[in-house]
This record gives sequence, C-alpha cells and structure tokens, in this order.
Amino acid sequence: MTSRVALIGKPLRRRHSQVMHDAAFAAAGIDARYELLELEPDAVEAAVTAVRGADWLGLQVTAPYKRLVAGLCDSVEPDAATIGAVNSVVRSDAGGLVGFNTDAPGFRAGVELAMDRPLAGANVVVAGAGGAAHAVVFACLSAGAREVTIGNRTVSSAAELAERFTRVGVGSLSAMALDDPAFIRAHRSADLAVNATTVGMIDAGTTMQVELLPTGATVFDLVYVPPETPLLRAARRRGLRAANGSEMLIQQAAIAFERWTAVGGMADVMRAAVAPLLADPDARA
Ligand code: NAP
Repeated sequence: MTSRVALIGKPLRRRHSQVMHDAAFAAAGIDARYELLELEPDAVEAAVTAVRGADWLGLQVTAPYKRLVAGLCDSVEPDAATIGAVNSVVRSDAGGLVGFNTDAPGFRAGVELAMDRPLAGANVVVAGAGGAAHAVVFACLSAGAREVTIGNRTVSSAAELAERFTRVGVGSLSAMALDDPAFIRAHRSADLAVNATTVGMIDAGTTMQVELLPTGATVFDLVYVPPETPLLRAARRRGLRAANGSEMLIQQAAIAFERWTAVGGMADVMRAAVAPLLADPDARA
C-alpha cells in the first residue's frame, strides 16, 4: 500500500514541498507520495476526515485553511496553539489527527544556521505581523531572545501579535508601525533583522533599514521566490550575513517528514532536490 501525504490550500502555486518530500520518501525507501490538493472550502472537511484512514501519514496546510484544519484535528500541540497556526497534521496509529506547527522550529533552525549563533540573547527586529511573523516571534522568544521589536504596516495587527506572546520567554517585546522612530532605532542594536512580510515577493521595496544595522548583524528574509530580494542585495552590499527563506522551508519540511515517518536527517536530501526550483525565480506548479 502506497502511503499518502497531501498539501491542502487554495491556490497552490508552488511544488517545492512535493519535490522535497517525494525525494525524501525515495531516499528513505518509503513507499509514499506527497499530493497537492487544491480544494474549495466545502471540500476541506471531507479531505481531512479521509486522513484518518490507514493509508495516510498526515497533511500539510496552507492558506486559507490553517484555522479550519486546526478545528478538525483531535488535538493541537501547545506551540501551535500559542502561535495560532496549524500548518501540519500527523495521523496517529489509532487514526487520531494531531495538529502541529513546523514554521517556528524551521525558522529557528534556518536562522541559527544563517547567524552562526543561537537566538538566545539576541536583539531582533521583525517586519510583519501575519502568519509567518507569528511563527518567527514565537521562535525568537521561546529560544531566549533578549529583545524583539515588531514593526508592521498595520499597527493594530502588530499589537495583537505582541499581546499573544507576552508570556512566552523572558525577553522584552514591543510592537509598532514600520516607520515608527523606535522601530528604526531598534535596528542600531539588532543582531538579527527578519523580513516576515510579502514585500520583496509581491510588492517592490524593502521593510528594514539595512544601513542602520551593526556590522555583525544578520538579515533573514523569509521570502525565497525570488531568491534574492532588494533587502538581501542591500545587506550583501554592506557585507552583512544574509539569507533568504529557503533554509527555513527545507528545515520545516524535514521536521514534518520526521513526524510522519520517524526518519530524521532528511534536510540534505531535500536541499538537493529543491535546489533547481529555488534557483528558478519563476518556479510554479
Ligand atoms: P500574511 O499572513 O499574508 O502577512 C503578510 C504581511 O506582509 C503582513 O504583515 C502585511 O502587513 C505585510 N505586507 C504586505 N504588503 C506590504 C507592504 N506593501 N508594505 C508593508 N507590509 C506589507 O503572509 P505570511 O503567511 O505571514 O507570509 C509572509 C511572507 O513569508 C511571504 O512572503 C511568505 O512566502 C513567506 N513565508 C516563508 C516561509 C518559509 O518557509 N521560508 C514560511 C512562511 C511564509 P499588513 O498587516 O499591514 O497587511
């Protein structure tokens, strides 16, 4: 019996996850396949119910169904509940569905590689307050960051994000507008600047003040299509450490794969498999 995993969402424009997981299944000698299920809202519940069947390992979930799928799971792990986003589901042997989040640990693994140091004790500026920013801020605080300053175009969303995480970690957390003088000032003492907005992917421009960052800072852009955003170009021009979101994508995939199969150590296989897609700025399903 071929086991199954699926990504559900609408629209599904990218096949990076499918390529990574299918390569890992092949490398691990597991008879399984990763499917892309672009579903209408009224088809989601039946699709999730089907995952209780013995041929399923689990699911990945993307916009706009993260909240809906969380409600269809039997349980949601505490980190995913705190972040407010289930992006993966594992089927237990008894057929129960457990929702979890891979973006936060994937971000942590990817960013610590890029920084070449742990997040513990770091001062971080984060642009954005959407789904990805929730995972980023949670990861920074739970890893022991000293100071996290969130800037967002819509201030109320930044404030809601900060409110959600007031009890995570021991670091200080503040939220404001992207152009608030305090957000700009926070750049001067930042060890890490993270773009967790769609700027650079959808809209042109940058969200961070690269010229204000200290020389030892790292710039991490969650965007990975295109592979080099104006933000990363500016950081590299200044000689700062700079990385796009590809390693986060790979690390979170390896984490999900291990949860489904109990086979770890697949990041290298996944990195090699997805490299051609990541090098192609127009890579779409
Ligand atoms: P989202 O929930 O839609 O949030 C979008 C964010 O971008 C919001 O903070 C929004 O601000 C901001 N934004 C959009 N246009 C802007 C503009 N012109 N100027 C300033 N801010 C703007 O999206 P998401 O799911 O968090 O994803 C954010 C990015 O992270 C995407 O590029 C996505 O591809 C990437 N991502 C990467 C990975 C990875 O593994 N590498 C994982 C997840 C996401 P407002 O609140 O003001 O609208």
